[in-house]
Amino acid sequence: MNTESLPDIHGNFGLYGGMHVPEPLVTPLTELAEQYAIVRKDPTFQAELDDLLANYAGRPTPLYFAERLTQSLGGAKIYLKREDLLHAGAHKINNALGQVLLARRMGKTRVIAETGAGQHGVATATVAARFGLECIIYMGAVDMKRQALNVARMRFLGATVVAVHAGQATLKDAVDEAIMAFVGDHKNTHYVLGSALGPHPYPMIVRDFQRVIGVEARRQILEREGRLPDLLVACIGGGSNAIGLFHAFLGDTTVRTCGVEGGGEGIKTGKHAARFQTGRLGVLHGTKTFILSDEEGNILPTHSISAGMDYAGIGPEHAYLRDTGRGTFDYATDDEALNAFLTLSKLEGIIPALESSHAVAHAIKVAPKMRKDEIVIVNLSGRGDKDVSQVADRILQNC
Ligand SMILES: *Cc1c(COP(=O)(O)O)cnc(C)c1O
Repeated sequence: MNTESLPDIHGNFGLYGGMHVPEPLVTPLTELAEQYAIVRKDPTFQAELDDLLANYAGRPTPLYFAERLTQSLGGAKIYLKREDLLHAGAHKINNALGQVLLARRMGKTRVIAETGAGQHGVATATVAARFGLECIIYMGAVDMKRQALNVARMRFLGATVVAVHAGQATLKDAVDEAIMAFVGDHKNTHYVLGSALGPHPYPMIVRDFQRVIGVEARRQILEREGRLPDLLVACIGGGSNAIGLFHAFLGDTTVRTCGVEGGGEGIKTGKHAARFQTGRLGVLHGTKTFILSDEEGNILPTHSISAGMDYAGIGPEHAYLRDTGRGTFDYATDDEALNAFLTLSKLEGIIPALESSHAVAHAIKVAPKMRKDEIVIVNLSGRGDKDVSQVADRILQNC
């Protein structure tokens, strides 16, 4: 399978992906795809990005052997890819830096972005401040209440946060609003989409900017262990940190990958965000993929303990990896993620983001069944500072 050549020129990953958008979006997206094709081959762009990734964001991130977690599980060796140590606290800065540099190359003076939990909004506002670009962040009014700390951070960074009241006033509505704003002023504005989602060319652009995670991890594990890992594990909201870790290993057929979705309160309760468990094929925000929708195609409400996992669609490249059998997928429930959050904190002195805790939960499940000479790499996509008060509330409730 030649995964390097995907998507095709129409943005398709097999049956999935593409550019399923209304007419007014076709021109700006086509322009973006054309400009990106030029930039992608330009060594000066890559050099500028590499410099910022190293000196501003803090790359390469360590690949850390989680010795006490490994011992306590008694199976495979577990390594953590420490994206949580990046500037602004998560992998999202990799994509924000790439796309803001791209926006500058295209002569744009303004960037806009959607945000759910606020992490992508913070990453975009951070990089916009670094380059003196005007920055508008669209955020559901409900999310703004739930994530007041990130709203304050974005404002300190000089961004304007626009409350979206339409629909459920959460992430999906914020994306709708950002797309409309992009159509309204695409001459001056670049839309920094935050995950490996949306219409072509976004799933490809975001993947390419996150690919550095796996490129580094592959080199680091070869240096450390002299061989490739047996399993890669990453959580999947939209799919950017997961494809970022997996992509550089896709040609290595002995390396299995597992993407972990938000299982919420359990699949049977219907309160979850596991698109591959009960989702249907459909189109959401311009891409064809698995979506949590009813028989008429209406988007269903999703639930996850972790705001970053709470989206009704999954990145199209993951749907493709699943079809071809190259990728496997599972889910972790809210309780399993919470348990992993506390376990990693106590055993390794690392408080992970609740999103990343889903990946850790999967490792806790599978590592004991693996041999001691096998190797698992878990992507620690972000740190847990943002989740501290939520977890504290929940633990007190359960006492
Ligand atoms: C946003 C976020 C995610 C989910 O997004 P993906 O695009 O699936 O990576 C995961 N972890 C953290 C820490 C996040 O902030």
